[in-house]
Amino acid sequence: MLRSRRILGLALPRRQLLLNACRWCSSGIVPNERIRNIGISAHIDSGKTTLTERILFYTGRISQMHEVKGKDGVGAVMDSMELERQRGITIQSAATYTLWKDTNINIIDTPGHVDFTIEVERALRVLDGAILVLCGVGGVQCQTMTVNRQMKRYHVPFLTFINKLDRMGSNPSRALQQLRSKLNQNAAFIQIPMGLEGDFRGIIDLIDERAIYFEGDFGQIVKYGEIPPEFRAESADRRQELIESVANSDELLGELFLEEKVPTVADLKLAIRRATLSKTFTPVLVGSALKNKGVQPLLDAVLEYLPNPAEVQNYAVLNQENAQEKLLLGSARDGSLPFLGLAFKLEAGRFGQLTYIRVYQGMLKKSDSIYNTRTGKKVRVQRLVRMHADMMEDVDEAYAGDICALFGIDCASGDTFSDKSNTDLSMESIHVPDPVISVAIKPSNKNDLDKFSKGINRFTREDPTFRVHFDDESKETIVSGMGELHLEIYAQRMEREYGCPCIMGKPKVAFRESIMGPVPFDFTHKKQSGGAGQFGRVIGLLEPLDPENNTKVEFDDRTVGTNVPKQFLPAIEKGFRDVCENGPLSGHKISGVRFVLEDGDNHMVDSNEISFIRAGEGAMKQAMANATVCILEPIMSVEVVAPNEFQGVVMASVNRRQGIITGQDGAEGYFTLYADVPLNNMFGYASELRSCTEGKGEYTMEYSKYQPCSPSTQEEIINKHLEATGQLPAKKGKAKS
Ligand code: GDP
Repeated sequence: MLRSRRILGLALPRRQLLLNACRWCSSGIVPNERIRNIGISAHIDSGKTTLTERILFYTGRISQMHEVKGKDGVGAVMDSMELERQRGITIQSAATYTLWKDTNINIIDTPGHVDFTIEVERALRVLDGAILVLCGVGGVQCQTMTVNRQMKRYHVPFLTFINKLDRMGSNPSRALQQLRSKLNQNAAFIQIPMGLEGDFRGIIDLIDERAIYFEGDFGQIVKYGEIPPEFRAESADRRQELIESVANSDELLGELFLEEKVPTVADLKLAIRRATLSKTFTPVLVGSALKNKGVQPLLDAVLEYLPNPAEVQNYAVLNQENAQEKLLLGSARDGSLPFLGLAFKLEAGRFGQLTYIRVYQGMLKKSDSIYNTRTGKKVRVQRLVRMHADMMEDVDEAYAGDICALFGIDCASGDTFSDKSNTDLSMESIHVPDPVISVAIKPSNKNDLDKFSKGINRFTREDPTFRVHFDDESKETIVSGMGELHLEIYAQRMEREYGCPCIMGKPKVAFRESIMGPVPFDFTHKKQSGGAGQFGRVIGLLEPLDPENNTKVEFDDRTVGTNVPKQFLPAIEKGFRDVCENGPLSGHKISGVRFVLEDGDNHMVDSNEISFIRAGEGAMKQAMANATVCILEPIMSVEVVAPNEFQGVVMASVNRRQGIITGQDGAEGYFTLYADVPLNNMFGYASELRSCTEGKGEYTMEYSKYQPCSPSTQEEIINKHLEATGQLPAKKGKAKS
């Protein structure tokens, strides 16, 4: 339960704090107002990499520009990995620091693909605002919908940049309409283009009512002028539309509007800022990153309309015995409050192990000692750097709101660091979903085993949704993750970065087995055939966990007395957990169960560790044999968007796949359908949707939960398992009827 909020470690009176803050401003520490932590999110190929590179060029961080996909063999600066250059998608999130008009901008590079949700979520967690890039031709595409949903979840305000207006078929008005209809955003142009496609000459700033031209070889010279007569009428209309849209979500501007007063430029800018920060409006900008148009005004808009770190409330969670307390973190950039930071990204690169940290409170200094609140371990900050793509710059200290990187620190991504050892404290943990799909993988060449395990080790450290285990029965290494592409990318990275090509099997949905109700067990393991005997008895109960914990496995010791000597508890737990690896019905993992040990027995001479491992195993098998076992399957939250006329067929297609419709909305000719659908039933949906909506429907999905599957699916899974293993039907457990 969440309780009251207070500022963590606030020892000084507020007045004193403010005084301190002012003193520091004059002593050279960049104030919050001059910091922006932003991300750039986009559907693949919308031009995110090109845009980022242009930003780095105009802000003076790089002196040349390269075309993405390396026509000059170099590639864009943000894509430091070879694979990314080839694919043109950015998988890893790197944080790059740059400076625009005296403001520090940290750009956290968010990966675009749906399957890398954990990376996107991490990046969004540390951002204060974002730029959503749309392709002027493609408009809102399915990944844009995912990104939009994630931005909503993490309350990230954003600007929209409609890119590629130089391309044939670009249509910014359509993209704007899709922002409204498909993403349900209150959006309006704050700029419009002068001409389109080959005729795209520059942009019109609707707020200041002027034309902007980009001259010089790289568009680096920005010139302002009068709005050309042929665009005046359209500009006036679009400006009015802008005022109306903002007035709808901003009270002050709304009042002016009702009184029929014309807002000043300053009124309008402030209203747009308020509405954007409150996530009730997204300003829409236009341009062409490739043709060097519109990037500098976009940077101006980042300063003008996106929040600084002090305008975002961040919390840490204090985990106490029965309750969680949410603590508001102070954004003062003066080191007066205790340090707290979140390690949001690990990267093992050519500089060694780098840990990206966002400082949320206080100050982090070189040679400080800080504590990992998860492990309680103390680490020393030997080197503190600011990253610029793959170059780095040493710094001595970092303050609340800064993003920096540390060297050689042992931790996992998502770990919280603080100035004191306090294992109850964490930044709100990032939601780490369970892997839903798995595949067997092995090196093509047997001699590559060393490289293989090195690579796998690194990937699992960096990405908590990427997991690995060895299947004893099939003698295969199984990797699991959030989707097919997720796993495929790692196989490719293995080849490129570790010189270890891999062979992958067919992807399998990660089903689980669980029980429907509690079952008692009483099992004695006894072996007395010559030599030393073995003896161990365990008595207790196997019970189901709550549905929200049905991917977990728990062991609970409730014994009193010495019938089961304490030193054998780990052995019993091991026996129990070993059996959980392999469910009786289908061979899938058992989860959502708690093994409650109540009593047992031992023998003075014959009881030892192995006896109790066997007893634990036996008890678990006995319980499963007597339980009503069910199979759980991953359920995906699916979001489908299509023009209204296809509503019927789309609903039917979701129903056919045993989807449960959870909601619906729509605007401007499009409807959005929300449904929970089993992952197992989603194979081939992309092409079905395409054909039943004449190519106009799109969908996205993300993992939601595990849930018992339908009796028919359960039967199918069991039969498949029996076929594969040549067994006779269920002697071990009774299937749910
Ligand atoms: P990302 O996948 O979103 O990072 O997109 P990239 O920056 O890799 O761009 C994808 C492709 O679109 C590349 O071939 C770019 O050269 C091209 N591109 C990017 N911006 C523009 C633009 O403004 N106009 C045109 N015509 N092409 C662009």
